[in-house]
Amino acid sequence: MRYVSTRGQAPHVGFVDAVLGGLAPDGGLYVPQAWPLLRPEEIAGFAGQPYAKVAARVIGAFSEGEIAAADLRQMCAEAYSTFTHSAVVPLTQLSPSVFLAELFHGPSLAFKDVAMQILARLYDHILGDAGRTQTILCATSGDTGGAAVEAFRGRKNVRVVALFPEGRISEVQRRFMTTATESNIAGVAVKGSFDDCQAIVKAAFQDVGLRQAVDLSGVNSINFARIAAQAVYYFTTAVALGAPERPVSFAVPSGNFGDAFAGYVAHKMGLPIARILVATNANDILAEAFATGRYARGKVHPTMSPAMDIQSASNFERLYFEAVGGEAVETARAFEAFATAGAIDLPPVALTAMRQLFRGAAVSEADTARAILLTLNETGQLVDPHTAVALSALARAKDLPGPVVALSTAHPAKFPEAVAKACGVTPNLPRGATDLAQRPERFDRLPADAETIKAYVRAFSEA
Ligand SMILES: *Cc1c(COP(=O)(O)O)cnc(C)c1O
Repeated sequence: MRYVSTRGQAPHVGFVDAVLGGLAPDGGLYVPQAWPLLRPEEIAGFAGQPYAKVAARVIGAFSEGEIAAADLRQMCAEAYSTFTHSAVVPLTQLSPSVFLAELFHGPSLAFKDVAMQILARLYDHILGDAGRTQTILCATSGDTGGAAVEAFRGRKNVRVVALFPEGRISEVQRRFMTTATESNIAGVAVKGSFDDCQAIVKAAFQDVGLRQAVDLSGVNSINFARIAAQAVYYFTTAVALGAPERPVSFAVPSGNFGDAFAGYVAHKMGLPIARILVATNANDILAEAFATGRYARGKVHPTMSPAMDIQSASNFERLYFEAVGGEAVETARAFEAFATAGAIDLPPVALTAMRQLFRGAAVSEADTARAILLTLNETGQLVDPHTAVALSALARAKDLPGPVVALSTAHPAKFPEAVAKACGVTPNLPRGATDLAQRPERFDRLPADAETIKAYVRAFSEA
């Protein structure tokens, strides 16, 4: 399988280079040159199979020829044995036609674990074979940093520096980044905002000297391996509800559009998905794009679902590329204009193509809180604010055919204050994380200054 850049100016690469490279050198995102197609009988055969086995088949369709199938099976088995539920992503029924896919049974209690656990093993495998050591630098407003720390702790060939804005993430989120005891992990509290952290990461990646000296890498959701890993639970949950004979719809709480795009990938691979409802919080750039055809960046509003406080959904470029029929010149033009002007008017044919699968809906803070309370009252189920955004959008949507799977992206105990405020019940941390508040924390505090942090990354990588 070869990967091409959405902007068409980068050499085609294989799976390994697409994974380690992250962003393509022309500023585009890698997409497979062709979508691998699974036969309906094979999809039907996923019913009742262990999650890790389905994962090896779905991810293997993208890594074929570069990662040996037996190695990938082993990596998937290990990655998904870190989950505390034997189904890995179990379904819970909320009403006759609505089901929750619980994506939060991994080590850091958020759906980011599903992809990060396998990504870390792919990195170790690839780098070990090549005798390379890399440093992963990430900025996190929520769950990516914790998932990366949990996945990469103790790995021989990778170091992780996770930058987070001091005082602006929940205590549970912070502790997942600061309580790892392994020496290949560094958590850094930056005296600034998440945007400051992101700007510093960008500056570090643009510093060619640093990039080469420490072999810098990134693990945000533009990494195609993460998307491939997320396509897996679309298969397992849809098949459990009667696919491929019966089409299933999904409601997806969205920020960077990685999770919802993974649904598109599953659809292209032959899974009959009727509709994907893209649910956003007050940061409604995606919802507006599907509703009006205008993709326009606004000011970031802080909400109780911070992992979706995003005004530029990186993975939307992949859908745009698909919707304009793989026209890289057109995609490059549109997203270079977006970088400067902050808006794109979708060509009518592209909008029509997108609407064949996607709908958008934005949810206010008040409606998010109401959905937490209503869900508890009607079903006894506590949900986190991100999941509540999807459920609220779903309650309003009229045209979702088939049974609907709402993706539940975080454990409610990751956001105890917001949940308690909405419904009066404080969620407990699950078994295995109950001592999180007692674990000693270790992290460094640095000013929001790119030179200081670049020097820190260099010293940490060379230590
Ligand atoms: C990252 C995240 C999301 C948004 O996922 P995208 O792939 O960025 O759209 C939703 N909920 C939670 C809890 C997250 O951590």
